[in-house]
Amino acid sequence: MQTKSVIYMDHSATTPVREEALAAMHPYFADFYGNPSSIHAVGRRAGAALSQARRTVADLIGAAPREIVFTGGGTESDNAAVRGLALARRAATGANRILTLPIEHKAVLHTAQDLRDHFGFELDLIPVDSEGLVEMDALLTSLGDGSHVAVVSVMYANNEVGSIQPIAEIGARCRELGVPFHTDAVQAAGKLSLDVKALHVDALSASAHKFYGPKGVGFLYLRSGVPIQPTITGGSQEDGRRAGTENTPSIVGLAKTLALVEEEREAENKRLRILRDQLIGGLLESIEGVRLTGPREQRLPNHASFLIEGVEAEGMLIGLDLAGVAASSGSACSSGAQRPSHVLEAMGVSPREALGALRLSLGRSNTPEEVAYVLKTLPRITAQIRGSAPVRL
Ligand SMILES: *Cc1c(COP(=O)(O)O)cnc(C)c1O
Repeated sequence: MQTKSVIYMDHSATTPVREEALAAMHPYFADFYGNPSSIHAVGRRAGAALSQARRTVADLIGAAPREIVFTGGGTESDNAAVRGLALARRAATGANRILTLPIEHKAVLHTAQDLRDHFGFELDLIPVDSEGLVEMDALLTSLGDGSHVAVVSVMYANNEVGSIQPIAEIGARCRELGVPFHTDAVQAAGKLSLDVKALHVDALSASAHKFYGPKGVGFLYLRSGVPIQPTITGGSQEDGRRAGTENTPSIVGLAKTLALVEEEREAENKRLRILRDQLIGGLLESIEGVRLTGPREQRLPNHASFLIEGVEAEGMLIGLDLAGVAASSGSACSSGAQRPSHVLEAMGVSPREALGALRLSLGRSNTPEEVAYVLKTLPRITAQIRGSAPVRL
């Protein structure tokens, strides 16, 4: 099957690299290949591109260039922020409690658990409600006067159920108390405002491949003056905060695509919201025993996620794939192992129900015709599965 004919509705897992970004990257592989740290002209050319990319990203999120650290993607940014902020603050103040959500991406969750299990931190997982939104009262109670808290990490938008957390509100409180606050904005980037001042964040993670850039590159915004212990040590690149020769082509591509998606954000969100709402309305209407996961309003504009009763995700995804539709059950890493998602579990969904999770995440390529096709196809696949295989746990 040619990829062109595939209806790709898995943009929360990854996105194709847009042509403009590819074109911008190309010269930095073969022509301007110098090491950005080199003194000579070949290196200076790469160094200039790196500086320009840093300025572009900083301008787009309301930061200063020196507050941008380029990384190897979202997972690395999350690790650097959670580990680096927690270790630095504990060293300075003795605070050793980490506050985060049970629905975080594993890049944050497993990092926090590692800090608990191997570095002597305490971990508070702040509960979420049945829509995947943080219980603010519980967060504020756990935060207290902040003196015992090493870091707070709350994701901006959830990858599995699309819920958007009140980051600005949490950030304002953390700032008042002087507690470092990180947000995983990997799903939010390109869809929600990344204005770091309005969000009151000390650190923010983003990953290029989630907004039409290359894989394996991302950035971490780090507010000036907030102490951090580097997790990748070596050379003095990125102001000593992330060692290793910078990935110039990918960083150039990241900056290019971020500029474009930010420019198009409002118009594209408007278009996506219409398609998303058609998917949600259409599926709730046409299939019995379907319910939406995550909030109806406070959700990503491109994100539709469901529980389909009496259907196992894997069979549904295979059926969709055969019908030319690329979708997901919610988390990219759940194929094969039929383990219910930790996100749905934290939202109070039973393990049995959670097996019927379906995520349709929209993007630039999707059209109203594609949505109509999915709305026509999914009820047929659901009926087929329900008619044949019994669901077993
Ligand atoms: C994809 C994702 C990550 C990981 O980013 P990578 O660049 O793939 O390492 C982290 N957090 C969230 C919310 C994500 O969706």
